[in-house]
Amino acid sequence: MFEFEIQAASGAARAGRLTLPHGTIETPVFMPVGTQGTVRALSPNDLRSVGATLVLANTYHLHVRPGEQVVEKLGALHRFMGWDRPLLTDSGGFQVFSLEGFRRVDDDGVEFQSHVDGGRRTLTPERATEIQWTLGADIAMAFDHVVPGGADEAIARDALERTMRWLERCRKRHKDLNASDDHQTLWPILQGGAHLQLRTEGLRRILELGDWTGLAIGGLSVGEPKAVMYDMLERLEPKLPALPRYLMGVGFPQDLVAAVERGVDLFDCVAPTRNGRNGSAFTPDGPVNIRNAEHRADPRPLDATCDCETCTTFSRGYLRHLFVAEELLGLRLLSLHNVRYLIRLAEAMRAAIRRNAFGPWAAEWRRRYLHTGSA
Ligand SMILES: [Zn+2]
Repeated sequence: MFEFEIQAASGAARAGRLTLPHGTIETPVFMPVGTQGTVRALSPNDLRSVGATLVLANTYHLHVRPGEQVVEKLGALHRFMGWDRPLLTDSGGFQVFSLEGFRRVDDDGVEFQSHVDGGRRTLTPERATEIQWTLGADIAMAFDHVVPGGADEAIARDALERTMRWLERCRKRHKDLNASDDHQTLWPILQGGAHLQLRTEGLRRILELGDWTGLAIGGLSVGEPKAVMYDMLERLEPKLPALPRYLMGVGFPQDLVAAVERGVDLFDCVAPTRNGRNGSAFTPDGPVNIRNAEHRADPRPLDATCDCETCTTFSRGYLRHLFVAEELLGLRLLSLHNVRYLIRLAEAMRAAIRRNAFGPWAAEWRRRYLHTGSA
């Protein structure tokens, strides 16, 4: 259980296989985000039809509503949401630090106000670990202190130190819970903002704590310029162990390609479903806004290369009509296509890595998607 095998590499890009209690995943992999225990507008059958193998659910949201005890009574998270393939839960750290209700952080944990009922609640490393244990995903994440992308070194240092202290507490609690039944693994999150020396030190300290089955890179894609994220990944890559590497909250096509090129294996983001609901679709030639008048009588599919239900059944003209008429089907169809687009992108990257031709593949992909002459 929880094995990761690197099957091929092309430069720093890797193709791997990750074995989890609910199934085996081929990497690179994009995981759709099921914030409330549902990927918005998509059923588990929809997700299976587009090849999703791993789905993320949000601990914070499920804790405040309906509460992990309700989820447990209804058979734990897999049964609750009707998804029998692997699941990952985040720790709630990102939500409590970024949502409106954030109140106070100290070494014990974070006090916040529920966005549902306004009640004061506290999340500690132990509680975040227990909630995730009760939800029962294959992969749980350590509770971390997230700071904004532009945080100065003193703030990032303070958050890193707290994250490291919390990691030891998460690990201890998870070991106790997991002692008799090895059905969940805990992954640490590397913080350190845009400060390489902090991230290098954080990485060393995480690895000194013991064996892990995966490693997440958090606190990137949180408002800093993209070049900063790419540069950080490039500098970290040679120092990273052979574990699966999960870049949190990244899901725009050009970022996936750039991060895989720099050795990342797993991604999650709400972008495909959020953009889909706004009428924006990913295509090999760049994003398309289906609301635009030019699509009014366009008989072509959204993406002629795509095998999803949306692209094999409907014209751009019909999809535009659904959005203009504010029909719910439009939200579902664009969400479905965008998730399929990112899963196919990951599949294409995996194939290019196996051919040891990632660099040329990425240059050609960028030329078409970003309409640039250069890589
Ligand atoms: Zn499609």
